[in-house]
Amino acid sequence: MDFDRIKEKLNILADAAKYDVSCSSSGSKRKNTNKGLGDSSGMGICHSYTQDGRCVSLLKILLTNHCIFDCAYCVTRKSNDIKRAAFKVQEVVDLTISFYRRNYIEGLFLSSGIFKSPDHTMERLISVAKKLRLEENFNGYIHLKSIPGASDELMREAGLYADRLSVNIEIPTKSGLKLLAPDKKHEDFMKPMKKVKDEIIQYKEESRLIKSTPKYAPAGQSTQMIVGATGESDRDIMYSSAFFYKKYNMKRVYYSGYVPISNDPRLPAIGSQVPMLRENRLYQTDWLMRFYGFDIRELLNDDFLHLDMEIDPKLSWALRNRHLFPLDINRVEKQLLLRVPGIGLKSVNKIIQSRKYRKLNWEHLQKIGIATNKAKYFITCDSREKELKDLSSESLKQIILKNSHSKYIKDLSPQLSLF
Ligand code: SF4
Repeated sequence: MDFDRIKEKLNILADAAKYDVSCSSSGSKRKNTNKGLGDSSGMGICHSYTQDGRCVSLLKILLTNHCIFDCAYCVTRKSNDIKRAAFKVQEVVDLTISFYRRNYIEGLFLSSGIFKSPDHTMERLISVAKKLRLEENFNGYIHLKSIPGASDELMREAGLYADRLSVNIEIPTKSGLKLLAPDKKHEDFMKPMKKVKDEIIQYKEESRLIKSTPKYAPAGQSTQMIVGATGESDRDIMYSSAFFYKKYNMKRVYYSGYVPISNDPRLPAIGSQVPMLRENRLYQTDWLMRFYGFDIRELLNDDFLHLDMEIDPKLSWALRNRHLFPLDINRVEKQLLLRVPGIGLKSVNKIIQSRKYRKLNWEHLQKIGIATNKAKYFITCDSREKELKDLSSESLKQIILKNSHSKYIKDLSPQLSLF
C-alpha cells in the first residue's frame, strides 16, 4: 500500500466530507455476531456530539470528490478548481478496519461525489459496506449516503448492509434547488427516500412473520438541509422538515449553516456566514416538534416567519400565548406542562411522578432541576406566585433575558440546555 498516497487521499476526502452533518448513529442495535468486529449497540459504540449537536465518532469520508454535477453551493462541484481524489473500494475497507482496531472510530460514514452516474457511484458505496459486513464480519455502524437518482434496486441492496441511509435534500425548496442545483431534480431525492421508507416498513412486517428476515437500515433514514444558501425563511425550512418526518418517517433532519465558498452571484457573498445560533434555533424547533407535541404551525407561520434569535422557540411561543398561562404545576396535564419554558422532558416526568405524593413548591421544583428563572413566569405552585398579568410580553422577555445574563445567545447546545 502506498501510505503517502492514502494519506493524501484521506486529507482531501475527509476534508470534503466535513460539510455533511447528517452523521448521528442513534437508533441502531446491530449486535456483534460470529466473533466479528465491532458492535453498534450498547457499549460497543458511543457517540460524541459537538456543541451544535454533530456526531464526531465515525470515520467520515467521501469515496471521491470527483463529481459530474455542478451544484453551486458545493465545494465538490465540477466547475470548482480543487485537488481531486478517489478511494478504491478496498482502500476504504482497509482504512475502516485499521482505524476501528486502533479504537479511533466506532463506525463509518461514507458519502461521495457522483462519478459517471448515480448508479455507478451507489454500486461502489454498497461494495464498501458489503465487503465490510461479509468479508470482514464488521458489525460496527455504517451510514451510507444515498446518491440522488440511484435506482430502486440499489437502494434496496444498500439497506441490507448499512445501519442508516440518508439522501440530502440540501436546498429546502424546489425553487431553490432549481436555482442552485440545475442538474438535480426534486424526484431524484424523493424516489430513494420513498424506496427506503417502503423497504423499512416491508422488512419490519416480514420480520414479524419470519424471524430470520435480515435487518434493513435499522437506524432508519435521515436528511440534511443547507440553511442560508437561498432566502428561505425559518418557516419554509421547518415546514419542509415536518413534511419529511411525516411523509418519509425520517429519523433525523439535520440543519447545516451554509459556509460561503464561491463568488457565484446566486449565493450569499464570501465572508457572510449563517450564524450558528440560527442552526441552533432550528434544532430546538425540530426538538419541540418531535418530542414536545408542538405542531410546527404553532411555532412558525405567516405571521411569524423567522425564529427569535434572542430567546429559544418554546419561550418565544409562550410569550405569544400568554393567555394560556400561568399553569398550576400541581394540576396541569402533561401535554401543557411540556409547553412551559424552562421545563424539559425529563423534568416533566419527574414532576408528574412527584406530585402524586405531595404538593410541589418552588423548592421541590428547584431540586427537580427545572430552570425556575424562566418557568416562574409561567407557573404557579404556592404563595410566591407572581402577578404578571399587566406586564407586556416584550417587557417579560426583557426581564427573562436580563435575569439569565443573555445565556441564550451564548449557549449553543441544541437539545440539552434550553427547555
Ligand atoms: S451532486 Fe453532490 S457532490 Fe456533486 S456537486 Fe452536487 S452536492 Fe456536490
